[in-house]
Amino acid sequence: MIVVLSRNATSKEKELVKQYLAGRGFTVRDQRFGDDDILGTSGRGTVDIQELTILPGVERVAATSKPYELASRETRSEDTMVTVGASSSSPGVTIGGSRITVIAGPCAVEGRSQIMETAAMVRESGAVLLRGGAYKPQTSPYAFQGLGFKGLEYMKEAGEACGMPIVTEVVSPELAVRMKDLVDMFQIGARNMQNFELLKKVGSFGMPVLLKRGPSATIEEWLLSAEYLLASGSGNVVLCERGIRTFETYTRNTLDISAIPVVKGLSHLPVIVDPSHAVGIRDKVSPAALAAIAAGADGLTLEVHPRPDEALSDGPQSLFPEQFERLMRDVEALAPVVGKELLRTPRPAPAGGAGLSGQKGVTGQASGSGEGGKIAFSGESGAYAEQALMRAFGEEAPRLPVPFFRSIFDAVLDGSAAYGVVPVENSLTGTVHENYDLFLRYPDIAIAGELKLRIVHCLIANPKAEMGDIKIVRSHPQGFAQCKDFLDKHPEWRLEACNDTATAAASIAREGALDAAAIGSEAAASLRALKVLKAGIETNPLNYTRFLVVSRRQGGAIPPGLGSEKANKASLVFSVSDEPGSLFACLKILSDRGLNLSKLESRPIQGKPWEYLFYVDLSIPEDPGVFDAALAELKTKARDFHFLGTYRASL
Ligand code: PEP
Ligand code: MN
Repeated sequence: MIVVLSRNATSKEKELVKQYLAGRGFTVRDQRFGDDDILGTSGRGTVDIQELTILPGVERVAATSKPYELASRETRSEDTMVTVGASSSSPGVTIGGSRITVIAGPCAVEGRSQIMETAAMVRESGAVLLRGGAYKPQTSPYAFQGLGFKGLEYMKEAGEACGMPIVTEVVSPELAVRMKDLVDMFQIGARNMQNFELLKKVGSFGMPVLLKRGPSATIEEWLLSAEYLLASGSGNVVLCERGIRTFETYTRNTLDISAIPVVKGLSHLPVIVDPSHAVGIRDKVSPAALAAIAAGADGLTLEVHPRPDEALSDGPQSLFPEQFERLMRDVEALAPVVGKELLRTPRPAPAGGAGLSGQKGVTGQASGSGEGGKIAFSGESGAYAEQALMRAFGEEAPRLPVPFFRSIFDAVLDGSAAYGVVPVENSLTGTVHENYDLFLRYPDIAIAGELKLRIVHCLIANPKAEMGDIKIVRSHPQGFAQCKDFLDKHPEWRLEACNDTATAAASIAREGALDAAAIGSEAAASLRALKVLKAGIETNPLNYTRFLVVSRRQGGAIPPGLGSEKANKASLVFSVSDEPGSLFACLKILSDRGLNLSKLESRPIQGKPWEYLFYVDLSIPEDPGVFDAALAELKTKARDFHFLGTYRASL
């Protein structure tokens, strides 16, 4: 059992709680967990939990059946998010939640130029944290032992040059003290997982720690080692599965995939996977990495070397740069399947922020009031658009819920929101025409980014309702359309359309009726303490919605991770003259330059019956000059040409 003290508990109140517990047969320990002051207990005492909970100075009491109390999910049900490298000038990199975080770098720092080159390369492919060993605990005394402190200095320099916090292994309590100021996240290696003096020392710094699983450690032993770190004062522990010793010798170790869901169930701490040390064979690293993501890992740590054949340590398992780039793209594509998104380092915004080759006004670059501005979405809390927003801007991003899609455009235009998130297309039910039309009605609004969200619909009701009670179901018409097979099994249900799925869920909670249910997200249910009667009721699990991030056109900042990424996609709208071959002539301009079209859609022009506008999405080629030239020619051929924006395509 642990007792979490209130933030404003006085030392006298704390003392009285301790005496209360000691008087009932417990041994009491003072502990810290993140910002919380905690009393840990052991022994065979008995206590009335309710009486203990109302003592002055007590915030809450958590009884656990596990020996690792602080690491246990019984103590803390929500996922812990660990932030690495936060400073006054940077928000740092977060591990956990709905993001997938990738740490990459060489096994060992071999020299200044090697780590600088590797850092730049892995960052370019999207890694957000830099790894590398300066002190290498090698199995053989003749293997490369690392450059020591000099290596750490090189690594820090490389991390700073690329804007990546660094993760490096520490092998002794004495070195931990020396290394502390240069390191953003300490790694406790597999061989040291049960070096308890090291755990206590590193834990006492309160810094982020990556705790690798020992090759022969059970899950419980691993979590008890995490408990050492937490009990010593670090609330920022990330667990790392890196393969265990089994009878199989083909691979270096055996990646314990099942440990990922098991540990995520037992503990609130983030879990990442090191497929490099798990399999030890370069070609097996990527499949193992993807399996780890599919199994629910919060991230990966990977060994990458510019020239693995020349690596001084672990060359055979180090990825070539191209393999790493490919893997990152695969992870990015897989992430939405498990409801996550790859966290990428924002690339610096292109200077000028206008045409791709510097031509002003050509690309409609994203703008807005920048950092600190709100992001508008249509609906209430728990709407899918809000989930998309959190993916794009982070869980803490300030939000502005508005009633209609057009209110998003209004809010961005009048500056009450810096950005807006609008759904434009669903993989099952097609285009959200209203939003495409709004781009024309709001010519000052541009597209700044794109993302795809997997939509998992749930049937949500009041906690006491059962499936048999339901007579009415509310949702957005798209929600009904996407769950058609499920709804067809209940023809007796009356369907009531709402503006959005979260509004539908809110009405169920407000009215409290047992015969009404909503179709919406799990988040919409849990936010309102509603029950999920059935999850995953969408007809096809490959149900994705594409959202566009919009912003105002002139000047201003570009959202991190969106407009600041290298743009590779553009959207435009045009109409053509009413004569044979006019559409063909426009498309030929793109085709002649090898530009790839990913979408072509026609929409009636309002007020001009039987005349149409064409909405086009296309890839931007490597050579921006080709793109700018195509646009210039297109403008001369097309009528009513509008450039909607350039942005980074979401996979
Ligand atoms: C490492 O990550 O460099 C390393 C030595 O890994 P492990 O402790 O998992 O063997
Ligand atoms: Mn290694």
